[in-house]
Amino acid sequence: MTDASVFSPDIPVLGGGDLAAGRVFCVGRNYADHAAEMGDAVPEPPFFFIKPATCLVVRPATLSYPPRTADLQHEIELVVVIGKGGRDIAREAALTHVTGYATGIDMTRRDMQADAKAKRRPWDMSKSFDEAAPVSAVTPIAAAPAVESAVLRLSVNGEVRQEGCVADMIWPVADVIAELSSYMALLPGDLIYTGTPAGVGTLLQGDRVRAEIEGLEPLDFTIA
Ligand code: MN
Repeated sequence: MTDASVFSPDIPVLGGGDLAAGRVFCVGRNYADHAAEMGDAVPEPPFFFIKPATCLVVRPATLSYPPRTADLQHEIELVVVIGKGGRDIAREAALTHVTGYATGIDMTRRDMQADAKAKRRPWDMSKSFDEAAPVSAVTPIAAAPAVESAVLRLSVNGEVRQEGCVADMIWPVADVIAELSSYMALLPGDLIYTGTPAGVGTLLQGDRVRAEIEGLEPLDFTIA
């Protein structure tokens, strides 16, 4: 690979400029209804995992169906974009570290993930593959004042599959940042996919996917 932009994709910022993407952090089971549909009888605290930044694909028109799976699934997620880094960030100061928000989908090879869980192996390869992290342009935080109460909605071929509210996150944005920065320092350009509500489901080649979060740029693409 010679294209350096592959390793740090530039994400357009609405209103002007580009953001050099850093790492892609993801929160697991940050909505109780999704935790329940994944088989969690008793609610547990959410947790983190990471996808390489090479998984990012900005404003895709098509998404390639990945290899090694027969069960590609969608997870619509609010993406938090870190503008100012830090470690052990206090909950009260957390939003001052956010530069903006985006619409994202945590694409998952669900069959591979289930197999990894059953064998008590890492699930990295079920979450990390080419184009596993579609993302919209970034809306600056000042232009997204209501994001913490926004509705998320993902439709496939015009049929609503996922509909939830950011307000239902077990860890709100400030908690996510406080928690994550207690594990390691956050850096400018880091993205945090903050978890998905219930309704995750299988995608097939030819499916038209629309993901929208109120107040943010939507995603609209076809599985090729
Ligand atoms: Mn997810």
